[in-house]
Amino acid sequence: MASRMKYPWDSDEPTNSLRNEVTFPSIQRIVEDNNTDLTSVPKIDYHCAYIGTIDDIVVRDFLDSHRLVLLVKGRVKKEIKVAFYDRTRGLPLLSYIQIGYALVVLYPKPHQFIEDMGQPVGFKIEDEQMKNIRIIPHSYRKLLAANDRYFSLISKPPNCAGCNSDKEDTATKKLPRCPRCWVTKYCGKECQTEDWDKHKKECRPLKDVQWFTRKDWATVQDDAPGKLPVMFTGAD
Ligand SMILES: [Zn+2]
Ligand SMILES: [Zn+2]
Repeated sequence: MASRMKYPWDSDEPTNSLRNEVTFPSIQRIVEDNNTDLTSVPKIDYHCAYIGTIDDIVVRDFLDSHRLVLLVKGRVKKEIKVAFYDRTRGLPLLSYIQIGYALVVLYPKPHQFIEDMGQPVGFKIEDEQMKNIRIIPHSYRKLLAANDRYFSLISKPPNCAGCNSDKEDTATKKLPRCPRCWVTKYCGKECQTEDWDKHKKECRPLKDVQWFTRKDWATVQDDAPGKLPVMFTGAD
């Protein structure tokens, strides 16, 4: 069998980068990983999430009631179905979601829907999985761009994002940062104000993508740290 990357530390991409194919797998990979016999491999605990852009929102009739079905496109452009079979049938999510927002499914398990035999698998979300659902108000593509920008900004020498100078604040010996995303740095107020017109388009995604990039996905044991601007944690 061709060897393929199985664990985050086999990848060149950091585990907290959305480009890491293990922590943030495609649907294909999720299917492969779930069909692979891992009994001879010691169980390694790491965290992963499927991310895709909501492409369509359908409230489907089902035995005199309704349930939410989302059509989502992720790393692979194929549309997959995410159907809510929890006791709320996903309906409370309707006030959080929009077409174009990203859906995050933590610890994704693929599901072949009987009515869609032969179609790509998707996710069937039941009660215990509702806590693993997150909504982020940016498309997957925008999050990827913010992800790349985040890693480029943190790897750079701390130059001003405005004028590119490396002069530090004489009092703090540090470049002051954007107070919203905490990633871009400035030599002073003037450059910060001037750069805002350009920076404001990327600031919010840069802030939001840190829910992913500020976690150590290989070892993090719970859902913290990090905050999501729009988050759904399931029925109360
Ligand atoms: Zn400057
Ligand atoms: Zn910012």
